[in-house]
Amino acid sequence: MRAAALVTFFVVVCSACRSGPAPARTYSIPSRHPIVLVTIDTLRADRLGSYGSTRGLTPSLDTFARESTRFTAAVSQVPLTLPSHATILTGLHPSHHGVRTNDGFRLAATVPTLAEQLKAAGYRTGAFVGGYPVRAASGLARGFDRYDDAFLISPDASERSADEVMRSATLWVDADHAQPFFAWIHLFDPHSPYAPPQPYAAAHREAPYDGEVAYTDAAIGRFLDRLRQSDLYASATIIVVADHGESLGEHGERTHGTFLYDATIRVPLLIKLPADRPPPSPADGFGETGKPAPTSSGSADGGRVVDVPVETTDLAPTIAALAAATLTRSDGQSLLPLIAGETGDPDRPAYAESYYQNVLLGWSPLRAVRTRRWKFIDAPRLELYDLERDPNELASRLDERAALVTGLQRALSRLDAADRSPDGARAAPTRDSAERLRSLGYASGFVTATAATRAVDPKDRVAVWAEIEDGIDLMARDPASAEQKFAGALRLQPDNGLAMKYLADLRFRAGQLREAREEYRRAIAAGFRHPDAYVNLASIAEREGHVDEARDALTRAVELASSDADAWNRLGLLEARRGDVDAARRAFTHAIAVAGDRPEPRFNLGLIERRDGNESAAQARLREAVALNPKYAEAHYELGTGYLLARQPERALEAYQAALVVRPDYAEALFGAARAELDLGKKDDARRHYERFVQVAPKGYGRQIAAAREAIRRISKP
Ligand SMILES: [Zn+2]
Repeated sequence: MRAAALVTFFVVVCSACRSGPAPARTYSIPSRHPIVLVTIDTLRADRLGSYGSTRGLTPSLDTFARESTRFTAAVSQVPLTLPSHATILTGLHPSHHGVRTNDGFRLAATVPTLAEQLKAAGYRTGAFVGGYPVRAASGLARGFDRYDDAFLISPDASERSADEVMRSATLWVDADHAQPFFAWIHLFDPHSPYAPPQPYAAAHREAPYDGEVAYTDAAIGRFLDRLRQSDLYASATIIVVADHGESLGEHGERTHGTFLYDATIRVPLLIKLPADRPPPSPADGFGETGKPAPTSSGSADGGRVVDVPVETTDLAPTIAALAAATLTRSDGQSLLPLIAGETGDPDRPAYAESYYQNVLLGWSPLRAVRTRRWKFIDAPRLELYDLERDPNELASRLDERAALVTGLQRALSRLDAADRSPDGARAAPTRDSAERLRSLGYASGFVTATAATRAVDPKDRVAVWAEIEDGIDLMARDPASAEQKFAGALRLQPDNGLAMKYLADLRFRAGQLREAREEYRRAIAAGFRHPDAYVNLASIAEREGHVDEARDALTRAVELASSDADAWNRLGLLEARRGDVDAARRAFTHAIAVAGDRPEPRFNLGLIERRDGNESAAQARLREAVALNPKYAEAHYELGTGYLLARQPERALEAYQAALVVRPDYAEALFGAARAELDLGKKDDARRHYERFVQVAPKGYGRQIAAAREAIRRISKP
């Protein structure tokens, strides 16, 4: 039986509410009930039937909406996947959790998370994610007992389907019904590229985005039906929200991330509380009896509707309150009073921001506040929209409403007073993150903004950004067309470092190394920074035999991305090649520090220690390497060589045999094994290994082949 400790909420009408103060009310719900948070990536509110769509894409969510409270003015704080989820899972604005874009940031260890608090409150916590931007390494995993992003082990994977996510979540939910659980389920399908499975692809050939939405809705329907079959559906809090919408060309924006129009920052939000506390209605004594609630009402189809602005920061305090957990700090406020029938504040300024182009190109960031009726966007060219009359935000009314603008400007500066980003929120992009995010349409890298770049309003460069986004989209499948797009961006803006870097990447991939080097250098001269650029410059220099130049480039790469184990390892190899043992040791040690589970830097450090005469340190590192990867044949072989020199033929033979299990024709190990066997008096075994060595040894081994033949001759002598 679920412990039904009752939690009491005090519903206090806020002082700003128009209906005036009302007495505090209380109601109770079971504190240890299951909580399911479903975030649907890139889902526009207007694709849901409950939000007015007539496309018929979301029958499951529409049924769910009838049993839920539906928020018609829910605002995402940032229209990018990772920062938005960081907000949802901490209750903090981006300036407080520090994550501004998808690459180059991670949730710092000092930022408290909702999952940690629920875990502390006795909840089992599980996360099941569908897309690379919210990988565990983003920092979002903290507080989750289980964080399932295992599909990302495959280096080509960037996303998985809603049904796969749901399968994993269902197994976890079913494993234990005794302890209350918090499950975060992240469905990535509506995110670009749009490639719905059949039959949705065929049914939505003209609008594949809609096909993804319809497929996701069906997967959610299957999941909710499973919950309905047990008592879980009735007893659970279930929240469905999007991290942001999708622009689909509105305002010249292809996808999302740049602008703060409603296409991307207004999100669907549905909340169903446990059924043992039915949705309150005036008749239950929760609402204002006798008074029509002006902003919060039951809709014709049964669900409650809240049309005052709310933020996605409100979700963490709401969930914490439902779980009787404490959230140490939050920029949001619990939605329970609104769900209970409180009027709310139609003029609450909900905050939104985008620093995407600011980080990538140094352009002005965009920041906005949205009330129920108005949206004010702070940019080099200010914008004000009357959402009631102009829901598509086509005609700025800035000049007509000076007093309103002043008020909203003030509200904005209160919400985003100072950047109090926590330390540790910066995490330079790596080749892997850049590549996987590119496959999802995202750019990475950064420039240091100058006064001149900050004066650029992203709306005035929408054509430049469109060329870049098209180029990113085409890079893998049509490099020639991608090149034209980046060249097009550079025609419009000749100093665009991001476009230069992509052009360089295309040339590097095509093997045009001299052109690639030229273009990388131009991008760097334009102020653009990406560890990738330096790593690829190093590869080019190394291939041309310029070891010092390669070393300098890799040094810059690890300065930018100190957690890039691969770059550290390559730097170590270069230092070793230059003969600088100490520098090589430092580089390999760094690689080990940032990627403790990688055996290669330990192997390389072992060889450096051996070269430096520290045989016991060498053996220790080599043993660590084989402990991490028991099939590391070269490490076994080097261990064997150490034992042989130390006159421990038995252990040497063991190590060589371990190498030969992995690579039966490993010539050096065959030769070493034969040497050890001779020392041990195992003449027959030694002869067999020498004979095999002679058969497989590469041509350069003439001296050793001769020695092996001589040994065979001596062994065979009667
Ligand atoms: Zn997203």
